[in-house]
Amino acid sequence: MSTRLEAVEGDITLEHVDAVVNAANAHLAPGGGVCGAIFAAAGPGLREACEALGGAPTGEVRATAGFGLPARWILHAVGPVWQGGDRGEEALLASCYRRSVELAAELGARSLAFPAISTGIYGYPVEPAAEVAVATVRSTVEGHPLDRVRFVCFDRRTLAAHRAALGQAPGARRW
Ligand code: ADP
Repeated sequence: MSTRLEAVEGDITLEHVDAVVNAANAHLAPGGGVCGAIFAAAGPGLREACEALGGAPTGEVRATAGFGLPARWILHAVGPVWQGGDRGEEALLASCYRRSVELAAELGARSLAFPAISTGIYGYPVEPAAEVAVATVRSTVEGHPLDRVRFVCFDRRTLAAHRAALGQAPGARRW
């Protein structure tokens, strides 16, 4: 069985998939960017569920229900803050993608959507982050029963970076 990987431009809070990944902070607290959007769309139950989890280390992932989102689960992945690239950022970012795929499969999710973790407020350069995202997901989905993994990109440049990493032409709609 092979998992379909795709990149689209859009808002991850609207995704109809089994699980969406949040670019979380270590406190699993509401923040800006995609995290703020997910907390706002999910509603107050998410804040309570995250408080009960008590945080997570960088590179790790914790699951909650999706609350008001179309997705059944939210996987809160704590991405690294970019500090120049020699502080283990690449391995930590890869861990976010690998652990998210593993956790999604453990929960029984068949479809999963990722934002471009760490590439906003946390400052990880978009193109190398997209390479890490695609390479890690490609290698981790082997042996996990996921039908579809979607990279939901909030802007054109992020979309182009993920399409390049997937080996797709910038204008391609499907592959
Ligand atoms: P981080 O703190 O991990 O860098 P950010 O949320 O600041 O997380 O940025 C991660 C990526 O998510 C950026 O590409 C940003 O543009 C994007 N983003 C922001 N809001 C949304 C959204 N609603 N859906 C998908 N991606 C989003």
